[in-house]
Amino acid sequence: MALTVSSYLCPQNHRCPLIRICPVGAISQNGYGLPVIDEAKCIECGKCIRYCPTGAIVNKN
Ligand code: SF4
Repeated sequence: MALTVSSYLCPQNHRCPLIRICPVGAISQNGYGLPVIDEAKCIECGKCIRYCPTGAIVNKN
């Protein structure tokens, strides 16, 4: 399972709250742009999926 952020579901108009929620710092964001998940860091805990307010974390495959 590889996770990514859906540009369709993410409004990209605010600082992503998941950056602080991810336990391993795998989520980064440039300004208010689309957040990026670093696959090398992600431990697939699923926390971001549960906390994203718009359900924008989706399976890449
Ligand atoms: S699944 Fe867990 S480790 Fe991976 S990006 Fe989401 S919160 Fe971070």
